[in-house]
Amino acid sequence: MQKNDIFELTITDMGIDGEGIGKYEGMTFFVKDAVIGDKILAKAIKLKKNYGYARVEEVITPSTFRVAPPCPIYRQCGGCQIQPLSYEKQLEFKEQKVRNDLIRLGGFSAEEIDSIMEPAVGMETPYRYRNKAQFPVGYDKEQNIVTGFYAARSHNIIPVDDCLLSVEENSAILSEIKAYMDECHVTPYNESTGKGLIRHILIRYGFTTKEIMVCLIINGKSLPSWEKLIARLEKIPGMTSISININREDTNVILGNTTRCLWGQPFITDYIHLRDCENDFAATDTAIAYRISPQSFYQVNPVQTEKLYSTALSYAGLTGDEYVWDLYCGIGTISLFLSQKAKKVYGVEIVPRAIEDAKQNAQLNHIENTEFFVGKAEEVLPSFYKNTRGEMRHPDVIVVDPPRKGCDRLCLDTMLKMQPHRIVYVSCDPATLARDLRILADGGYTLKKVRVFDQFCHTTHVETVTLLVRK
Ligand code: SAH
Repeated sequence: MQKNDIFELTITDMGIDGEGIGKYEGMTFFVKDAVIGDKILAKAIKLKKNYGYARVEEVITPSTFRVAPPCPIYRQCGGCQIQPLSYEKQLEFKEQKVRNDLIRLGGFSAEEIDSIMEPAVGMETPYRYRNKAQFPVGYDKEQNIVTGFYAARSHNIIPVDDCLLSVEENSAILSEIKAYMDECHVTPYNESTGKGLIRHILIRYGFTTKEIMVCLIINGKSLPSWEKLIARLEKIPGMTSISININREDTNVILGNTTRCLWGQPFITDYIHLRDCENDFAATDTAIAYRISPQSFYQVNPVQTEKLYSTALSYAGLTGDEYVWDLYCGIGTISLFLSQKAKKVYGVEIVPRAIEDAKQNAQLNHIENTEFFVGKAEEVLPSFYKNTRGEMRHPDVIVVDPPRKGCDRLCLDTMLKMQPHRIVYVSCDPATLARDLRILADGGYTLKKVRVFDQFCHTTHVETVTLLVRK
């Protein structure tokens, strides 16, 4: 086998990034855009000793799991890695990923996992679910102003005003901003020269309130003739907040530190409803309001978030008397949910600004049984354990929702010392979840429930909620 050789390949498996995997003459090939079950003509593009990478030259016989991707630019964009896979198969892929990691990396037996895994929770309509979009701004070859997305692994903008994962309202907003830029000779930012003004357009949408927030991230102190922009945007139904954010650094980080509200209020409000897990996730009357500013961290798929948080709350098994810790609490989203049914909830989060939001959101909802701490979970929890007496030292429940790298060992060890009856682990990375669950299981806990949630349909991201109970 040589580079650029063309050969027939049957795709028999799927890799962790959604790529197709097939075997040819003892070599394993990874093929982007190939779907499990496809028979393809593959072109070898990179060869290693026992494996290689190939490209799809032609699909000879398409897999029965293949669907026509509805997005015209899905292949260039790279944001949706598994859009050509039927939605049912996508859910199965995510469930298998969690199952395999729990068995391979977590050392749980297949029987154990199969007996406790609940069916994956997908979306009825897996499109238009994102409440936040960030569009880079630039020029095309003809020097027209374009907004869109970066092509996979590059900073070339693919012009697109409508992403099928985002809300339809975005297109009209982007058109008005481009028209304003043309009218007032406002330039897009150029990464290589550091010149030009407008870098990104951030749009957030409240699914329940229909409030819209627009924030222009600019490489400068102010926006010329900004009243003209406001005049265009304020006509859009739902427009609630228009602001600029200043970012003059040479960086890939989108937002800078300073935000100035130009029109309306500096935030939008949205609600997260508690759903009835026993009753097909029917909405209930309980809802928590959240204030969202341009910088706030907020779950991007509100429909699935309601199901995920409601499941976390149901796994916590609260009756009203419990003392609960919510570690890695962000803006307190889960904490405020838990507080509805707990005696007291303590939240811990590393980002000070998020804790400010958490406290404000508690006030906004007249919630008085929460307390929030800024700091690392692996520092706050051990120091609390060492220096304090009382119920929170041996809480009834601990909920964790760490970033991809999972929980710090010291945090897990302290959780074990605190001996809560239940631990609810919300995870966005099955591999670190499996690692951490093993530590908790060896420390005296039984894994009782595992459920996969599809928060990011058409991508390979997987979210999981699990329940552990003390032996
Ligand atoms: N539970 C929240 C946020 C989960 S995201 C929600 O559902 O909205 C994970 C959070 O962990 C982020 O807000 C991140 O800032 C925070 N974080 C990261 N490392 C941390 C650490 N060592 N200690 C505490 N919080 C941390």
